[in-house]
Amino acid sequence: MHTARDLVGLSELTAVYILWFDDWYDGPRSGLARYQDREFWFAAVELAADDDWRGPRRHILHVIDEDEAAAEWREHRSFVAEVGGACLHEPRCPERPLATVEEMRRWYERHPPESGPDYLSRPAVGWFGDESCSDDP
Ligand SMILES: [Zn+2]
Repeated sequence: MHTARDLVGLSELTAVYILWFDDWYDGPRSGLARYQDREFWFAAVELAADDDWRGPRRHILHVIDEDEAAAEWREHRSFVAEVGGACLHEPRCPERPLATVEEMRRWYERHPPESGPDYLSRPAVGWFGDESCSDDP
């Protein structure tokens, strides 16, 4: 998660398409997005200390390389196949009906969230707001 300070020096981007998310709280918090025909990692900015998500949310786009994007796609497809419901792209990945809490817990046991790379320290190309997201073309 980012704080408002991380926005300093970054410009607003438009026409950013969120493809899927790996974290959700009242909306996507992190995941993969497409911008200018490239894939980037996005991470939400926490604007209020009290975790108040009312109002538009901002996300920072981070550079990841093609191998990392491919690895994240594999994780995403595996998650959707076994747990379900994280695609915002069309057509959606083959998915199952939403998993039970126990099935979800087992998936996270095999794919601990903290084991992945820390993309938040990667170069940022700018930020975008939820309100500037368009539907995936
Ligand atoms: Zn998907």
